[in-house]
Amino acid sequence: MSVLTDLIYGGSNAVAGLTEGAVNDAIAKFGADKSIAMPDTAYFLPTIYAATGVKVKTLGDLPACVGVLKSLISNKEDLGEALNAGLATAVGAEILEALKYVDNANPYENESGIGFVPDPIIRSLGVPLVTGDIPGVAVVLGKADNAADVVKVVKDYQDKGIMTFMVGDCIEQAIEGGVRAGLEFRVIPLGHDVTSVIHVVTVAIRAALIFGAVEPGNLAALLAYTKDRVPAFVNTFGAIDSVVVSAGAGAIALGFPVVVDIDLGENQVPGALVSVTDHDQTVKTSLELRNIKVKAKAVSLPVSYAAAFEGEIIRKKDTYVEFDSDHNPTFELVSTMTADEVEDHKIVIDGPDIPENAEELIRMPLATTIQVYGAKMQPDFESVIERKIHAWFNYIEGVMHTGQRNLFRIRISKSSFESGLRLKDFGEVLYSMIMDEFGSVVDKCQVTFVTDLEKVKDQLENVAMPRYRMRDDRLASLTDESVDTFYTCILCQSFAPAHCCVVTPERLGLCGAVSWLDAKATFELAPTGPSQPIPKEGVIDERLGAYEAVNAAIASATHGAVETVTLYSILEDPMTSCGCFECICGIEPLSNGLVIVNREYTGMTPVGMTFGKLASTTGGGVQTPGFMGHGRNFIASKKFVSAEGGISRIVWMPKELKDDVASRLNKTAKEVLGIDNFTDMIADETIATDAEEVMAYLTSKGHPVLNMEPIM
Ligand code: SF4
Ligand code: ZN
Repeated sequence: MSVLTDLIYGGSNAVAGLTEGAVNDAIAKFGADKSIAMPDTAYFLPTIYAATGVKVKTLGDLPACVGVLKSLISNKEDLGEALNAGLATAVGAEILEALKYVDNANPYENESGIGFVPDPIIRSLGVPLVTGDIPGVAVVLGKADNAADVVKVVKDYQDKGIMTFMVGDCIEQAIEGGVRAGLEFRVIPLGHDVTSVIHVVTVAIRAALIFGAVEPGNLAALLAYTKDRVPAFVNTFGAIDSVVVSAGAGAIALGFPVVVDIDLGENQVPGALVSVTDHDQTVKTSLELRNIKVKAKAVSLPVSYAAAFEGEIIRKKDTYVEFDSDHNPTFELVSTMTADEVEDHKIVIDGPDIPENAEELIRMPLATTIQVYGAKMQPDFESVIERKIHAWFNYIEGVMHTGQRNLFRIRISKSSFESGLRLKDFGEVLYSMIMDEFGSVVDKCQVTFVTDLEKVKDQLENVAMPRYRMRDDRLASLTDESVDTFYTCILCQSFAPAHCCVVTPERLGLCGAVSWLDAKATFELAPTGPSQPIPKEGVIDERLGAYEAVNAAIASATHGAVETVTLYSILEDPMTSCGCFECICGIEPLSNGLVIVNREYTGMTPVGMTFGKLASTTGGGVQTPGFMGHGRNFIASKKFVSAEGGISRIVWMPKELKDDVASRLNKTAKEVLGIDNFTDMIADETIATDAEEVMAYLTSKGHPVLNMEPIM
């Protein structure tokens, strides 16, 4: 036998033995009826479920899985057969990890890793993965002989926006070496046991179920999905034992190349198992093996600039300077100008710059004004560009930006200020990012930061506010009736090949990130890109929002997978869902109403399902009448499920979501239903999560749904 297959089988057989023993012990201890589940997932033990269709619910279900696992280990001298044995190791690892959750809700509590990754996190990764914001997924495993090597590699991935999952002692090595770890930094420690690597494997596997609509039990489709659509790869550090090798074989079976830092000589497998002993080449080789392209960075700054820093939180005690609407006038404004009003790449600071050597927290007014000119620029794109300031500033290490328009807060950390980060750098960021992302409509761009209190006050009142009001009026006038074009968005097709969103003025994309204006700008920026215009033609049914042109566009965008969708119905040909929706709504039969649940809510709902369970009813571009994914902002729309009665069907939402949409939803309710404070009639988890109790609440409030026809 070759050294490689020998090692793989050695590891697989060892894991099989361990798993069988652990399963028998657990059954002896807890009984076969004891339930077993991973936390916050609708996919049981995801590897077993996806590969075989078996829904493991109790310990008694496991011996059969161990049987399947053993049958995958043929011990035959053949690389393909040996890779199957690698899959057996994955199944064994999944069972061993799941056993940790029997009788312990949080086995990772005292670990530096997070263990199992819940479904909602995977759904939240959909959009950044399809936009290339997260260009790939790295799995870093082991213990480096020289800690500095793993630090360098992980920092490089972080800098490139690659999502990095870590397993083993390399976690401490990285953290001690200054790597900032956590979900918000895209460096995610999983755990120390080799088996915890399964927690990233199931992320890929659940992506196939959530976005790809892969049928559980269809192993070939599963392997094709992970190979073609999940841009993941593995880097091992330090000596590797047979268990690591067999786990690596499992990764290779899923299509993820493995780069090791020891010399495997002739045991390398081209394209799949590669030795790179020079750590300066690890990142480059890994990205090449998976064909991951990282966009060249547009800006150079005294601190890091990467999407990985987007979620960074800067505490007050670490803040050097703060621009905060609560304390000073502030605003951000993009304005379209004539050619001679804009001097390209000019960056001006009008007023005092940030003072040096301050002992105490500094607070300053700030107007960030961006003047753009472009032959193809449209005033409609101003707000599209403006909304991106939030992300662009957050990418700067040591900078936190929240809010928009005249209500925002920017903090610059002491350490980034010490590193030399100044206001002019923010100007460079804006200039470079605008030219990079909007270069096909912006020909010239100039940035002015006003910090003079009186000037900011004056411009806020006389320039910015009138402009915002004008835009709001324009937005309010933008209805589905007032335009003659809708847009498709197929960005999510890289994960959900049969999905297409139809974006209209009153119905934004289900991810919440693509409004009609965004889709229109996307089309203008990339005429053959992911958003294509749909002429609003061929009305079939106005109430349902059924159009011949929409059906034609959907059929062509989904390559025939979906032939008819309506814009306003949850029952008749509802719009498909890819999986990354912000919210899902479903029918609550007792009240004949609808519950809406957002991704962030982990509790129970009156329909007896969590967000995760509800979400698993739809996705992957499949139509599921009665369930529909949508964006938060759609909730206050007059078109929200209007075919079945609209917002007056909403009977329950988590409190956070209700508060978030309250002002807009109440405004719509006042207009459409003549009801004041409509959200007060809608139940939430602080009122009830039981259908009967919800019903009692609705009755006590005189909720309009009580007088409506049955929904089905
Ligand atoms: Fe994906 Fe739809 Fe959002 Fe486009 S609009 S990114 S297809 S969810
Ligand atoms: Zn999506």
